Amino acid sequence: MTDILVLGAGYTGVMAAIRVARRTRRTGGKVTLVNASPRFTERLRLHQTAAGQRLADHPLDEVVAGTGIAFVQGRVSAVDPGRREVRLDDGRTLGYDKLIYALGTVTDVSVPGVAEHAYSYDDHAAAVRLSKHLDTLTRGTVIVAGGGLTGIESATELAETRPHLRVILLTRGRPGSMMGRGARAYLDAALERLGVEVRTGVDITKVLPDGVELAGGELLHSDATLWTTGTRGLPVAAGSGLSVDARDRIVVDSTLRSVSHPDVYAVGDAAAVSQKFGVMHGTCQGGIPTGLHAADSLADTLRGKAPRPFKFGYFHQPVSLGRGDAVIQFTRPDDSPRRWYLTGRAAVFYKETVSSSPIPMFRLLKRGLVPVRAFALSALPS
Ligand SMILES: Cc1cc2nc3c(=O)[nH]c(=O)nc-3n(C[C@H](O)[C@H](O)[C@H](O)COP(=O)(O)OP(=O)(O)OC[C@H]3O[C@@H](n4cnc5c(N)ncnc54)[C@H](O)[C@@H]3O)c2cc1C
Repeated sequence: MTDILVLGAGYTGVMAAIRVARRTRRTGGKVTLVNASPRFTERLRLHQTAAGQRLADHPLDEVVAGTGIAFVQGRVSAVDPGRREVRLDDGRTLGYDKLIYALGTVTDVSVPGVAEHAYSYDDHAAAVRLSKHLDTLTRGTVIVAGGGLTGIESATELAETRPHLRVILLTRGRPGSMMGRGARAYLDAALERLGVEVRTGVDITKVLPDGVELAGGELLHSDATLWTTGTRGLPVAAGSGLSVDARDRIVVDSTLRSVSHPDVYAVGDAAAVSQKFGVMHGTCQGGIPTGLHAADSLADTLRGKAPRPFKFGYFHQPVSLGRGDAVIQFTRPDDSPRRWYLTGRAAVFYKETVSSSPIPMFRLLKRGLVPVRAFALSALPS
């Protein structure tokens, strides 16, 4: 028997757990999946939750039913790679032979006041808290900090579903700066149509209970501030002695094993994965292939086979602009924009297909029907 512990049941942890359970069932793999919540959180849709939409419920014991995976609900508080043990915050201890770490990231709270006064997407409950607070406002201002894809999706969703509120998007660069010219112009027009006020070139130095302070001292009032400007790995990884990067993500080798502790694999947002173009940034698009690949690396290692190096290339930047509009920027493998982009209804359909694909993909994976290599898109010409 080999005890395989998978920490975190987000997109990448569930994928890794199902895949490794399938690949090791004949070689004695016993897989346990640990997650803080008993439900699968569709992180891709947390802006919809914040806007007050009710989403489908996916209990994790149903998600992994029929796979032989044991699901444990619990919050991980520490990993001891020397003793090969994981501690939960209720005092329980879980041993392992091999660990797949998929705990994702949390909001970077290094700007003063973020932890105390800003709303975040750290988990489903955090998005629900924002939604409930917005329900109490008949008028007022919401500040969305951060002009990346999460900030844009949030500002447009909130502006569309809560038109009585003033939504201000504050960003250092221009919103969607990673997109090409055409997609950016479409995005700018959509923000204007939805009434989102955009302020660029802005540095927020402090979040206050009723607003934000900008560099230079200007104060902006807000009734709710949503922080989407950056994330970091959980303190659990660094605290355990695993090698982490400057953003507390676990540094892995080409087979997705921790460079400091080879019995630990790290995947998804929690991992610092180097590719030809640099270190991957946190997306589901890139995270799911890491989950599948780590599972294969681990299974190959148990069989005495040499694991293959992980190769990945980005394909798209899908961005919803409320429920009725979207823009999809197609990209080169290094995530730089190609000339092609999709807008309007076709883009809404595309985005919805992407966002709803993980659950059916889990089912296919249970039956061994996901062509794992199809996820590694690095073969695309740049
Ligand atoms: C609003 C929004 C929109 C997004 N849109 C896109 C998109 O369109 N395309 C895209 O590719 N990416 C998108 N992303 C990014 C994407 O959601 C993440 O990259 C993806 O969720 C990473 O998956 P993961 O499994 O690594 O982490 P997560 O999905 O965050 O899963 C981590 C899991 O670990 C659990 N966990 C955390 N801490 C503990 C603990 N201490 N103990 C036990 N369990 C714990 C959590 O409950 C969670 O289940 C979006 C993100 C947001 C917030």
